[in-house]
Amino acid sequence: ESPYDTAVDSFQQDASKENGNGGFNSEVPFKKLRVWCSITSAEWKLGNIQFISGQNVHVSLSDGKTLSVSTKNILPANPDILIDVDDLIRLAYLNEPSVLHNLQYRYSRDTIYTKAGLVLLSVNPFRRLSLYGKDYVHAYRHKLIDTPHVYAVSDNAFTEMMRGNSFNTFILIINVKDKADQSIIISGVSGAGKTETAKFAVEYLAHLGAGNGIENQVLQANTILEALGNARTSLNNNSSRFGKLIELHFSEIGKICGANIQTFLLEKLRVVQRTTGERSYHIFYQLCAGAPTHLREHLNLKTAEHYKYLMHSDCLTIDGTDDAQSFHTLLEALDNIQFLKEKQYNLFEMIAAILWLGNISFSVIDNENHVEIAVDEGIKSASKLLGCNEQELILALSTQKIQTGQCSTVKKLTLSEAIETRDALVKYIYYSLFIWLVEHINMSLGVGNVEITGRSIFILDTSGFGSFHKNSFEQLCINYANERLQQHFNRHVFKLEQEEYMQDGIDWTQIEIVDNTQCLNLFEKKPLGLLSLLDEESAQSSSNGLTFINKLKKCLNGNPCFKEKDGAIGIFHYAGQVWYTIDGFLQKNRDPLHSDLIRLLLSSTQEFPKLLGSNLLDNSQKKLSSYAGPFVYVDSQNQCVGTQIKDQMFKLMQILEKTTSHFICCIKPNNKMSSGLYEHDLVLQQLRCCGVLEMEKISKSGFSTRITHQQFAERYGFLLDKTVVSQDPLGASLAVLQQFNVQPDMFQVGYTKIFLRTGSISALEDSRNRAL
Ligand code: ADP
Ligand code: MG
Repeated sequence: ESPYDTAVDSFQQDASKENGNGGFNSEVPFKKLRVWCSITSAEWKLGNIQFISGQNVHVSLSDGKTLSVSTKNILPANPDILIDVDDLIRLAYLNEPSVLHNLQYRYSRDTIYTKAGLVLLSVNPFRRLSLYGKDYVHAYRHKLIDTPHVYAVSDNAFTEMMRGNSFNTFILIINVKDKADQSIIISGVSGAGKTETAKFAVEYLAHLGAGNGIENQVLQANTILEALGNARTSLNNNSSRFGKLIELHFSEIGKICGANIQTFLLEKLRVVQRTTGERSYHIFYQLCAGAPTHLREHLNLKTAEHYKYLMHSDCLTIDGTDDAQSFHTLLEALDNIQFLKEKQYNLFEMIAAILWLGNISFSVIDNENHVEIAVDEGIKSASKLLGCNEQELILALSTQKIQTGQCSTVKKLTLSEAIETRDALVKYIYYSLFIWLVEHINMSLGVGNVEITGRSIFILDTSGFGSFHKNSFEQLCINYANERLQQHFNRHVFKLEQEEYMQDGIDWTQIEIVDNTQCLNLFEKKPLGLLSLLDEESAQSSSNGLTFINKLKKCLNGNPCFKEKDGAIGIFHYAGQVWYTIDGFLQKNRDPLHSDLIRLLLSSTQEFPKLLGSNLLDNSQKKLSSYAGPFVYVDSQNQCVGTQIKDQMFKLMQILEKTTSHFICCIKPNNKMSSGLYEHDLVLQQLRCCGVLEMEKISKSGFSTRITHQQFAERYGFLLDKTVVSQDPLGASLAVLQQFNVQPDMFQVGYTKIFLRTGSISALEDSRNRAL
């Protein structure tokens, strides 16, 4: 063997090991071949091989320079004609540089949508493109356009849902189509375009299903939820700080007849604290800027600069956004979903009460840091809006009753305790408002009187996986939720596929996929998963960060997805390792509200704050009457936050498992929210996270059409020449395949089904149509 052969051998091994079929399979690097040279892990340059010497390849780059690189660092490039394919699985070489380049080429021509097998990729254009609206809906509905688009995905979902129960339509892809309910799962990092994409999907379905006005109300509901649940962050001027699942119900004839919105994981903390340069929820600024005179007077409302809760992050406005105008849009939306004026008042009273609670001034009165609260504008306005006595509000925020047996003593709060107590009240009020609005929206969307038609489309828009410089409990919850969604994706796309092949005994080389069961176990295992341990530790009054870390170390060290270092925990997620600081974990998981504050709300002379208090009382009544400690949990089952999230995710998964899922993966091309800019490393990171490269491999090497022998024989058997006599379905099927000269690598015969590669059925269908 010459050194060249050895080099090529090792090259081939490396390429196929690291890049699947994205590397050189049968071809060896040869002179003039177009290749990608890796400069860094996210930068490649295109060139042609000039000559090869030993382990090194000399490449002439398109800019005229030459480069000598190791054979390990080159990958084959696609021929020019494939530069603009709209489904990545049609690329001859599916390696990272080729995918990156293809997406960039398309993006530079405003073609933001590209398919990757079953997944639609959408690269955020950061400017309005004329790709949407009535004409486009019409064009996609009537198949006048067939380029990838969120409308095309929505159309598929709609068509499959409508076809679900009908008997006379023969369905080519049979495996999952007995379920009529559909889901469109939208994923991506913050600012990638999930929420916009979800709106386009709803818009499309609303056009198709228009009839009784519910579609308009769904769009109005979005406006309201965005006012209360979206905020400016460093990554997105209109970042959703909650996840949502929109469910559209359709009638037998495909008209929308009801809708429902579920929300997840609202980031309550933002109301009281956030990083500099970010804003609290839009509604605060909208109210301050846009409230009409009578409302201003009623609320004693000032401009935003007047409020500490808004001022502290040093960002009051958003370029290009008119908060006063948005307030009017909000009022219209509230009117449109029949949210009575009186209730609108309740809502704004609570928003203003929160702003005034933030202005309460605590003064330290002794050297133990105990506080006193002055009767100033903050206290006066807050107590008026909450309908409670000034002195009682002061007491509830500066002292704590402690019950020991029959006796109760009063303890003065320190500055940090008082701030924590006030902030807990604020977070509770805000969260309750949000939930109350969602309930109202759902009532107006007519869920109550919907006949169950078995025809629904669910659209999921939820925060994507994230890893930042500093990650805390909130990020842990979001990443855990994404871990669950990833498992759904894996199952749906990879596992079902492979399992079906194996069950049917066909030859199938397993593709190594990312399997995240171990990471999910790390979170969910009982009693020794992270969430159980967190609950256990949260229930102990003597616990702290250190005891928690020690417990984790003791119980989780066996799990390869877990690491601990200097008071931080590292978790290996499907998308990479993330370090979380343990600070505040226990407190955030408990999310406590002191019972004194519930009593305060109950004492209100106004109906609405009383309602907030009694909701809580209902939920935790048992606990309040027999409770020795000072805290109650804000949840119907008295569960801690982590466990609530786990339950929510289980319920979500149950819904999604019953649907046929369609996936859209949104990609953020740059961190500057600017159009036209395409940053390779950022895009690559996201592509790696969403499993697109594996997806492509499987689609390309898989058999997308599956038909039972029986159905195949029934459908095509009559095309057989008379001379072929065949008794059994399998024999007939084989005879058909032979007669139509379907190449052996284009199909597989399983125990029960015939599996065909994408597109190979079309010749048979053509003949059948001609013959009928
Ligand atoms: P995410 O929900 O993923 O955090 P958003 O959907 O809020 O992201 O999108 C962030 C911003 O990007 C939007 O406010 C909008 O300006 C822009 N954007 C996203 N998708 C599109 C699109 N298809 N067309 C035009 N602009 C878009
Ligand atoms: Mg969003």
